[in-house]
Amino acid sequence: MGWLGLDDTDSLKEGCTTYSLHLLLESLPASVTVSSPRLVRLWPFAQHRTRGNAAVAVEILTKDEDALLKHLDAYWNEHILPCKGALSSSKHDARTQYPADPGMVWFSSRQPNETFYTQAVQTEVQLQDVPEADRSWGRQGRIGATAAIAWRQNRITWEAIAWRQPHRHGQNVRQVCDKALAFVDSMSSTFLSRDPRKGTGLIAPRGPCPVLFGLRARDEDTAHEAGKHLLAAEKTEAVIGWRVFATNQATDDHLTQSLQATVANVDILSRGNCVVTTESGKWLAFAESGSVKILAQWLQPGDEIEGYGLSPEFGILHLEKLRLVSAQPIQHRPMCEKCSVRMKSMGKGQGCRCPKCRQRTDDAWVSTPRVPPFPSWVQPQMDARRHLARPLEWGDAADSF
Ligand SMILES: [Zn+2]
Repeated sequence: MGWLGLDDTDSLKEGCTTYSLHLLLESLPASVTVSSPRLVRLWPFAQHRTRGNAAVAVEILTKDEDALLKHLDAYWNEHILPCKGALSSSKHDARTQYPADPGMVWFSSRQPNETFYTQAVQTEVQLQDVPEADRSWGRQGRIGATAAIAWRQNRITWEAIAWRQPHRHGQNVRQVCDKALAFVDSMSSTFLSRDPRKGTGLIAPRGPCPVLFGLRARDEDTAHEAGKHLLAAEKTEAVIGWRVFATNQATDDHLTQSLQATVANVDILSRGNCVVTTESGKWLAFAESGSVKILAQWLQPGDEIEGYGLSPEFGILHLEKLRLVSAQPIQHRPMCEKCSVRMKSMGKGQGCRCPKCRQRTDDAWVSTPRVPPFPSWVQPQMDARRHLARPLEWGDAADSF
């Protein structure tokens, strides 16, 4: 028994680590048994990240480990090593793409310590910090490969992934039956499969990658059932294979404690990007973050807020979830009891006077509460969330994590 991890095999043509794993598993000798594969999303700001920053792993049972390792050696040299240096292409991601630097690891009896997974999903990890495997191949990709094995599945969701036939790789139009998709979307445990506002599917990746669809569910049985249903539909194109992956998507594993702070200043920048300055740094709400941005823009100095997010550098928080704890009320001068007209200040310490009847009072303020646009936690709309983000509608995520 052992664990195999694989990462960073993205390339222009076969740009998906799940596909590489599928082909590798298909190549294994019949004598080995493979358990549920896993797809693990890691620190979104990792310097050497490839698109989606996902790594894969699988548990393998074999009575002949030597033969398996020999097979993996040969497979590595023939099929994975040639990916090294390939650039994944994405028109949707302007960040620097590093050339693929694949890595594969084998842990023959034990999983690496869980803390390594936590580090790799919550922070930047360097190659020298990776726990030593019983056998390893390649370089940079060993980080994700090892983290995928170290994940203990404390919080878990599932994804059914199907791969296209090779002659369709690179074609952008993907055929998945709309009716079947609407049906699986209505299953109670599937999630993020269809955008109800736009009526569009969210299961098909963009660009040339070989994945036909990735359908998410909160339990394994539903992922199987829904995947089968989509593939059985006549209007869904033929695939070369599909598997259900255990994933850390929608677990909030990338987030640590929430922060509470007082708003010092709010700057609304171009396109609606919003910077909220607090005593614990600058909190950024991006234009794409929907309700998070709307709430951030509404804030005023003195408001108390609570937020979850990622800190790619010290003093900066990229907001993923936000709520108002308390709002500074609006301060007004009192109304004149006789005329119902708002009184005006006569100057500092001089009291107030009704502009109509000239009635005077002591220097006074009355306050009116401000009504926030949202009463509780907000998150970006579904197509703007990170893979790792746990939907708020699943319950007290923000309080329990
Ligand atoms: Zn008056």
